Amino acid sequence: MSRRRQIYEGKAKILYEGPEPGTLIQYFKDDATAFNAQKRGTISGKGVLNNRISEHIFTLLGQIGVPTHFIRRLNMREQLIRQVEIIPIEVVVRNVAAGTLSQRLGIEEGTQLPRTIIEYYYKDDALGDPMVADEHIACFGWASQEEMNDIADMAVRVNDFLCGLFAAIHIRLVDFKLEFGRLWENDYARTILADEISPDGCRLWDMTTNEKLDKDRFRRDLGGEAEAYQEVARRLGLLPEGEGNMVLDLDQHRQRRGK
Ligand code: UDP
Repeated sequence: MSRRRQIYEGKAKILYEGPEPGTLIQYFKDDATAFNAQKRGTISGKGVLNNRISEHIFTLLGQIGVPTHFIRRLNMREQLIRQVEIIPIEVVVRNVAAGTLSQRLGIEEGTQLPRTIIEYYYKDDALGDPMVADEHIACFGWASQEEMNDIADMAVRVNDFLCGLFAAIHIRLVDFKLEFGRLWENDYARTILADEISPDGCRLWDMTTNEKLDKDRFRRDLGGEAEAYQEVARRLGLLPEGEGNMVLDLDQHRQRRGK
């Protein structure tokens, strides 16, 4: 097989040239980074799980009319996607205080927010992805006003949908990050959801125990990362029952750690 042309390598994914013009192949790695890549590691099997989880969520979002870059999953670690021009803004949606919001504003982690907050961060590793306001985005032309309107509308729709999806499997959607891209059709660009939605970019807490089922296990050295991602996939119905036999589940992990 001829070697595919690599277009881009990020922290958790690689993009290759797709089979047709306007398509790319998105490859999910097991690599994990946190704190602007100051902390690095691998979570065994993460790429396979994130590929599957993101496929599931993007497919469902497509079915409720949210346009996404997802075309189809190709294999365990790869999916075919539409090539877009990534808008250099990370969109964070928050339902419950956690992470940098708690640190910045001194609000205890786990506090339910009286209303959903949408925040924007400028995608720039060298600057550490600083938080920005609509004013900065407009001033520096990172996205047009029309694009920002579309992004805010889609972020709210995605949040409403995902809150319900996760609540049905007893998971609280605390916060998550979205990325959007421009899909060029002649001279007109449509804004569509891009990147991935997986436990790498979401905070997902068990509704009863508040157990973290996301990348905070890696960020905070809690252990059991692979088991947590697997638990999310299992609850979403993406792992055949019994497949958990191949790996430890979270209970076994806790027992091993004597907790
Ligand atoms: N997030 C992300 N990539 C980033 C920054 C944040 O996926 O570069 C996600 C993160 O997983 C969490 C949400 O966005 O679900 C809010 O993150 P926060 O601002 O609290 O920053 P963090 O504590 O993740 O550094």
